[in-house]
Amino acid sequence: MPATPSHDETKCMPGADAPLGLAVLERRLAHDLECLGWPAKPWMPPQPDEDGLPVLDVAVIGAGQAGLAVASALAQQGIRAVVFDRAPRDLEGPWATTARMETLRSPKELTGPALGLPALTFRAWFEAQFGTDAWARLDKIPRLQWMDYLRWYRRVMAVDVRNDTTVTAVRPRADGKVQLDLVTPSGIQRLLARRVVLATGRDGLGGPALPSFVQTLDRARWAHSSDAMDYGALRGLRVGVVGAGSSAMDSAATALESGASSVDLLIRRDDLPRVNKSKGAGVPGLTQGHFDLQDERKWRLRHYINVASVPPPHGSTLRVSRHPNARFNFGCPVLSVAQDGGALRVQTPRRAFDFDFLIVSTGFRIDWHSRPEYAAIAPHVRAWKDRFVPAPGQDDAELADSPDLGALFELQEKTAGECPGLERIHCFCYPATLSHGAVSGDIPAISDGARRLATGMASLFYREDFAYHFARLEAYDDPELLGDEWVPA
Ligand SMILES: Cc1cc2nc3c(=O)[nH]c(=O)nc-3n(C[C@H](O)[C@H](O)[C@H](O)COP(=O)(O)OP(=O)(O)OC[C@H]3O[C@@H](n4cnc5c(N)ncnc54)[C@H](O)[C@@H]3O)c2cc1C
Repeated sequence: MPATPSHDETKCMPGADAPLGLAVLERRLAHDLECLGWPAKPWMPPQPDEDGLPVLDVAVIGAGQAGLAVASALAQQGIRAVVFDRAPRDLEGPWATTARMETLRSPKELTGPALGLPALTFRAWFEAQFGTDAWARLDKIPRLQWMDYLRWYRRVMAVDVRNDTTVTAVRPRADGKVQLDLVTPSGIQRLLARRVVLATGRDGLGGPALPSFVQTLDRARWAHSSDAMDYGALRGLRVGVVGAGSSAMDSAATALESGASSVDLLIRRDDLPRVNKSKGAGVPGLTQGHFDLQDERKWRLRHYINVASVPPPHGSTLRVSRHPNARFNFGCPVLSVAQDGGALRVQTPRRAFDFDFLIVSTGFRIDWHSRPEYAAIAPHVRAWKDRFVPAPGQDDAELADSPDLGALFELQEKTAGECPGLERIHCFCYPATLSHGAVSGDIPAISDGARRLATGMASLFYREDFAYHFARLEAYDDPELLGDEWVPA
């Protein structure tokens, strides 16, 4: 007969509402990890210092959800990663700094970076603190709560993150190591890593895509939607927002809530897209199969999603439109902007607008030149445009600039032999999407990408270190039988 569940166990059952508390969840997670043998026992060869520099097995640049997930997935494989982030502790990624939406755009049920561990999901973390009824009532995940969850994730998975540390140079070498230069709180440092993961985010290989018209404007008169900025400074001002994507809505709403006298959205299209094709594409077959699709199909799919454009969320749009001083101006691509003193005159095909401040919400682009840390590799990275010609009518600058990655997200040389060691750098950020699908940044499939990279790296390391492992095998003498278990007939 099954044992009667203890009081604590009944509280884990669906429907029971009293929150367990984080301490109970953390014990459950620790037990799950122990049952799964996670982290695996160390098995990699020790790395002595070289040229007086420490040698890491894996250095991860970026401690956002991608960096945390990949470091945890590597731990499952018994591979230690050190994660560097220029952001101060607890402020990694956009969530608590430059993001301005009230809630995440993703549905709450997605399991994000939980790597298949139920006790590591946002839901488990939330229910442990607020109960199952609160979970049922929750519509979408509040933005700052997601950041709190990631802070907890880092702690319970014991990810080795070094904050306030900027990677200023990434230099592959021909001897199987990549040299990293760092600016740390204790000064400039240099180290070597056998493999490097670029988990550097949505703008991970570039920065904001800035329209040319901002170049002549006073920098105090405009911002990109991803800029860190005090929106309180917009109080009483006439604000123009260029674009109508999710971040445009978030910027417009924040400006209105901060007391802007008016906000005009300048929208190129004649209507807002209604359907999120990217969400519709997300099925497990694509998550696992994208990399193996023919190039033409990869391109067709991503181009189709780009052209359809992702609509801003329902709630974010209402957050703007509920203000009487918000205006949605369709068919208004910016033709020119002229500055006269503090005022900006923006010309569109429909009419001219006068603003005090302009926010351009024009997305991000791959731009190696805006990232000095990549100066040594930028000229050598093969992009899709270097070898693929899209079908007529499917030109797409974002896709053309995307790095053409190998099966483990590794960068590949434009010209063979010109940058030995480049393949030791793995691109685990948004620009990997054309090669691998959406598995390297966004919440839905980040665990799939992290596991793909971590298991693949375990294989790479083993093959590379075969001689070491074979010698250990020869020296291995842990007996299963002592010889006294039987008597010969
Ligand atoms: C405003 C906004 C809202 C979003 N909302 C959603 C959403 O609701 N759902 C969803 O699925 N996706 C969303 N995304 C997309 C994606 O999930 C996020 O961009 C997410 O932050 C990606 O995680 P990441 O770990 O790849 O990158 P990030 O979280 O951006 O982390 C990258 C880290 O790399 C560090 N870094 C970069 N370069 C260096 C360097 N040289 N040295 C040291 N550190 C460096 C940065 O400091 C940063 O902390 C959103 C993106 C944005 C911008």
